[in-house]
Amino acid sequence: MTKTKTLAPVDDLFDQSYKLSYFCESLSKYVENQLKSAKTDHNVSKTLKTWYKKDIFHIEMLEPFCPECFSKSVIKNGLKERKLIFYDKGTVESEIQAYKCKKCGKKFNTDVSEIVEDNSNFTYDFKSRCIELVGLFFGSVRNVAHRVKKDTKVDISYQTIENWILEYKKDNKDSNNPYSGYYIFDVEWVKIKSIWNYRFTLFDSKQNIIVADEIYSKENSKNIKEFLDVNTINQNRIAITSDLDSKYKPIIEALGFKHQWCYFHTLKYLKKIVSDYIKENELTDDEIDKIYKEKLELFSLFDSESFKIARGKFNKILNRIKDYSKVIQSIVYDYLMPYFKTFFAFLEDGNIERTSSKLENFFQKTFPKSVKRLMKIKTGVTSRISIRIDIRNQKKVFDGQPPSF
Ligand SMILES: [Zn+2]
Repeated sequence: MTKTKTLAPVDDLFDQSYKLSYFCESLSKYVENQLKSAKTDHNVSKTLKTWYKKDIFHIEMLEPFCPECFSKSVIKNGLKERKLIFYDKGTVESEIQAYKCKKCGKKFNTDVSEIVEDNSNFTYDFKSRCIELVGLFFGSVRNVAHRVKKDTKVDISYQTIENWILEYKKDNKDSNNPYSGYYIFDVEWVKIKSIWNYRFTLFDSKQNIIVADEIYSKENSKNIKEFLDVNTINQNRIAITSDLDSKYKPIIEALGFKHQWCYFHTLKYLKKIVSDYIKENELTDDEIDKIYKEKLELFSLFDSESFKIARGKFNKILNRIKDYSKVIQSIVYDYLMPYFKTFFAFLEDGNIERTSSKLENFFQKTFPKSVKRLMKIKTGVTSRISIRIDIRNQKKVFDGQPPSF
């Protein structure tokens, strides 16, 4: 994992720690562990000084200086009232200190852009906690609004939460990092408004991060090609591991990747061919025993120490292929022979992922079945996926630079 953890700028404005498990009983063990391991940094804002004057929350500069001439010779010059909504404190009447420069005469306010946007009362703290809840409640805006009301006594409309979800963007800072070139690609079905859609995901199997994650209405070659091409442009293209879907292979290879078929999917598929054959044919016990033995011999190829050794063993099988059972012969001729490199690429290059399991596990963690029912709109879906991924990566949301005044 090469991701660095960034903390929200206003995380510790109030000296009150919060535990996510406290307001989300339905946290999965997994998420809970993730959050436990995410340490919170308790630095106070480096530029602001805050305290309560009775019920009024006062904000001023820690070390006031003139933004025009950088002189530290400034005097206090009135207060600006502002309503701010924090998660732990709810709605807070605030006053923001204004100043005047003694040197150049410039009048200016305390810059609170690290706390709140210019045109909003909701602080970044509040928004980011809500967005975290969206992830933790698996996208249910209703549950989020309910929880927010309970925690903060602040009424917040479903639409406002929806808007925040939509404006939430994947943090693209990491896209400057080169990917390893070793990927897993998978497609999963997602139901949106009772219509099945397809979630395409590309995963960097060395860095264990999602490279791309998008919803398509069709799983056709055009979409697959576009998805893989666009998301690996100017990146290393070494290998992609996928399940056995026949559409993938020509696309993956045309884009310049080595293709690895997932070992688990392969075993499952070959086992099924064998068991179907046994069911459909009247065979003696001896014949069945022979088939099983030969099957194990084929499977042992996958445990070879190197590609060369696997190739050597396979050649030995080919040399006496006539002695093998019919079903084993057909597996050898129809699958292993024409696609030997696709089954065994991982033996040639140890960095190639042998299975697509890593990504399938990731799917289950970021997008359990219960979430799918809640999905309403397409953009909402992808945004929610990013939120869960970011939470998984222990990243705080809204950690980009706030807009400046
Ligand atoms: Zn000045």
